[in-house]
Formats: sequence, structure tokens, C-alpha cells
Amino acid sequence: MATCININGNIEEEAFVSVLDHGFLFGDSIYEVISTIDNKPCFLNEHLQRLRRSAEGISLKIPFADWWFCEQIKRTLEYANNQESYIRIVVTRGVGDINIDPSSCDSPCTLIFVTTAHFYPAELYKNGIHLAVVSIKRNSKDALNPGIKTGNYLNNVLAKIEADRLGAHDALMLNPFGQLTESTTSNFFFVQEGRIMTPSLDCGILAGITRDIVIRMARENGFPLEEGVWPVEALDMADEMFVTGTVKQLMPVTCLDGRIIGNGKPGDITRRLMNLYQGLLDRIE
Ligand code: PLP
Repeated sequence: MATCININGNIEEEAFVSVLDHGFLFGDSIYEVISTIDNKPCFLNEHLQRLRRSAEGISLKIPFADWWFCEQIKRTLEYANNQESYIRIVVTRGVGDINIDPSSCDSPCTLIFVTTAHFYPAELYKNGIHLAVVSIKRNSKDALNPGIKTGNYLNNVLAKIEADRLGAHDALMLNPFGQLTESTTSNFFFVQEGRIMTPSLDCGILAGITRDIVIRMARENGFPLEEGVWPVEALDMADEMFVTGTVKQLMPVTCLDGRIIGNGKPGDITRRLMNLYQGLLDRIE
């Protein structure tokens, strides 16, 4: 089997959510994407902690404890029986009246979706992807804080549509102050004269779990790394760029707005970090 869905603890091959679920009506939900190693969830504690923070961010009470998620994820992975899996946890506000007031939603809906692992083509890691700086701004922290991983991804969807129109693989988004933030489903890093830089959480980005690991790994291995606030012009002098995410891992960026970065191939520091990250994954039991 490839895909199965655990809905509130019941495993189904097909699952249906009510049209009156506020997750469907208003994007009133939170989620996490987790990958596996040897079909076991990777960095599960970190993902569950972020799920809890997201729930707090939208005042949603998750009806289950972490041990329940661990058990149900294990059950669902065993049932799906894939070599490697893509896991998506979604907790919606639940069924309520057909207006935005969440007070009529008594019972959140919890889904654990398991399917075969998604892998990006090896060619993208070898040659890098193209990003375009888009006109759509990342949501302001004071509007819908990008630090909360909600099911309302329309901001990112619009950015991805614009990036596609511009002929890029993905978008690089600025915040309303014109500062660098992140890509639509990944965090952004750039390298200049041997120094690694990445927008700080204050810029209005998701606190990526891969981002966090890469920051620690870079520092432990003696790479100078700075989290900060930069305008897009800071990229004019960048020698390397890459993005990070649970499924993508570290993906080199070799073209920005049609301009070749460095020599058009993944840079030296990017490749060294990719190797270190792979080494770290290889050591996970
Ligand atoms: N930024 C956004 C907007 C995302 O949606 C994601 C992942 O989905 C990331 C960054 C990367 O986060 P992580 O490394 O935890 O997968």
C-alpha cells in the first residue's frame, strides 16, 4: 500500500472531511510535514513541539497528547508499509457554523496522512534551482504570523504562481518592509566571502526545523553564520545561495531573477553543508 489516512485514530484508505469543517472553509488549521529514515519519523519531537506552538498561535486545543501522535504515526506507517514515507499531520478547527467564529467548533479533526516519500530530482541538487523575487509579500508578522504553520498557505500559493510565471522553480519573498524572508516552503540562506547569512526569525519566517539544524551544524563545524535583516540588494554580492526544508533538505540555488550565482553550480560551502547534513541523517537510527 502507498497512501493511508489516520483520521482521529481510525486508519482509512480514503478519508473525508466535512464541508463545514473550518479548516476547509477558512484555512483554520495547522499542520506539519515529517519525512522518514528507514520508514521511521525523523525529528518527530521537534515537529510535535512546533505543532503545539502553532496550535497556541491560533488558540486551538489539540485533543491528543504527544504520545498519542507517536503511537498513531507508528501504526499508520506500519499499515502503509512503504519503504520511506511522507507524513503530514493536520489538525483542523473542526465542524462548526458557516461563519468564521470558531466558538461553534467543538471538536478538532486530527489527520495523519502517510504516503510514499517525495523526492526531488537529483538533477536539482546537482545543478541548483532558480528563484525569483516576487512582488507578493510574505504575510506581515502582525497579520498572519509566518512563524505559525497554519493550513492557510494562500500567501505562498500566490507567490508560487508568480514564480512560475517568471519561469523560476520557486519564489523568494520579501516582507512588507522589503527585507528578505524565505521561499514558499523553505528557508533561505546566502553566502558572501565565506560567511553564511540567513534572515532572522524577526523578519517573519517559519522557524524551519532544517534551518535550525543547518545553523547548529554550520556553527559546530566552524562556518561563520549570521542571522539578520537584509534588503534584497544584499544578494547582489552573494557567492552562493541555498534553501532548506524537511523534504528538500539542502537545495542549492544557482540563479536568482535570471542572474547566475557564482559559477552557476552549487557553491563550495553549500556542497560541504549538504554533505554534513547527509552525514547527520545517515547517523540517525
Ligand atoms: N518555510 C516555509 C514557509 C515552509 O512551509 C517550510 C516547510 O514546509 C519551511 C520554511 C521549512 O521548514 P522545515 O525545515 O521545518 O520543513
